[in-house]
Amino acid sequence: MTRVLYVLPLFVCLSVIEAAKWTHIGKNGTSEWSRLFPQCAGKSQSPINLDSTGDNPSFVYDPELTNDLDITKAIDVEEYYLFNNAHSAVVDTSAAEIDVTGAKLGSTYRVAGPHFHWGAENNRGSEHTFNGIEYPLEMHIVTFNRDAYPDLMAAVTSGQPGALAVVGVMFKLAEEDNPKLKPITDYLSQITAPDKTIKVSIPSFELSSLLPAETGEYFRYSGSLTTPECNEIVTWTVLLHPEPVSESQLALFRALKHADDGDHSEALVDNYRPVQPLNGRIVSTSFEDASIDLPVKKDDDDSDEKTEDGGDESAASRSSLSSLLAVCVATLMVLWAKQ
Ligand SMILES: [Zn+2]
Repeated sequence: MTRVLYVLPLFVCLSVIEAAKWTHIGKNGTSEWSRLFPQCAGKSQSPINLDSTGDNPSFVYDPELTNDLDITKAIDVEEYYLFNNAHSAVVDTSAAEIDVTGAKLGSTYRVAGPHFHWGAENNRGSEHTFNGIEYPLEMHIVTFNRDAYPDLMAAVTSGQPGALAVVGVMFKLAEEDNPKLKPITDYLSQITAPDKTIKVSIPSFELSSLLPAETGEYFRYSGSLTTPECNEIVTWTVLLHPEPVSESQLALFRALKHADDGDHSEALVDNYRPVQPLNGRIVSTSFEDASIDLPVKKDDDDSDEKTEDGGDESAASRSSLSSLLAVCVATLMVLWAKQ
C-alpha cells in the first residue's frame, strides 16, 4: 500500500515536471504557455505588433528617446561562448563586462549576450512585427540593470519592470551574406545538438557591429520575456532599421536541433512567440512619424498574420506550477518518511 501511495504522487510530480519542459511548437508550445506559466497570461506581454496603420493612438513620439545608445566593453576578452539551449542559439559575452547606457534607459545595463529567433521559411521568424510584417530573423541583446541587481538571475527573479532591457533587431532577407553575422554563423554547425553544456568558444567581436548603422530610430515599450516564464520585467528597444541576412545564413540557423521528448532529430525552427495584445500600453518612438517610416504590408505579402491563441482562462483556473511542485515535494517527503 505504501508503495502505491508513493508511486501515484511520483507520477503526478513527473507530469508536472514534464509540463515545465516548454517548447515553441508541439504539446507544450506557445498556445499552452499561459496555462503552464501563469505570467504568460499577463497584460504586458511581448512580443507585439508595431502598427502604424489606421488610427493608432498607441504610438507617442518621445523627443527624449535620443540617439545615444552607448555600448562600452570593460575587458578585452579573446573569446565569447556560443551554445544551443534547445530554444535558440545563444552567445555569452558576459566575460567582456559590456555595458549599455543612454537612449533614456535610465540605468547602466550589463549585457548577457545576444540570441536569435527564426522561421522555418522566410515569411516568418521574427517575434516583433512591423505593421504585421514578419522578418525571417530577429536578434535580442539581453541586458540586466546592474545598478540594481548583482546578476542576470537576480534581475529576472526580481519581478520588477525595467530589471531587464532587451534590444531587438530585425533581419531582412538579402542576396549576399551579412559579414557582421559571420562571427556567429560560422560556428553554428558546432552547436547543432541542443546541449547547454556544449559551449563553443568563438572569437570575440564588437557587439555594436551586430547593430544597424542607424540606431537612432527605435520603439520603446514595457513588456515581458518572450519565453516562459514570461516575466513582465523588460524595457524593450526595438530598432526600426533591419539588417540583412542571406538564405544560406538562415539555413545555418535552421540546421540546429531542439530537444523534444528525448528526440533530438527535429529542426529548431519557428522559435518565435506570436504577437501579444497591447492592452492599452503606450509605445514610444524616437522618431516623429511612424506612419511614414514603418513598412506597410502589401496585399500580396504571403506572410500569415500571427494570432495569439489561448490566454482566456481565468486567473483562478490557472494552477501555479511552482505551487504544484511544492506540494509534490512535500507529499513525497512525507511518504518517504513513513516508509
Ligand atoms: Zn528572444
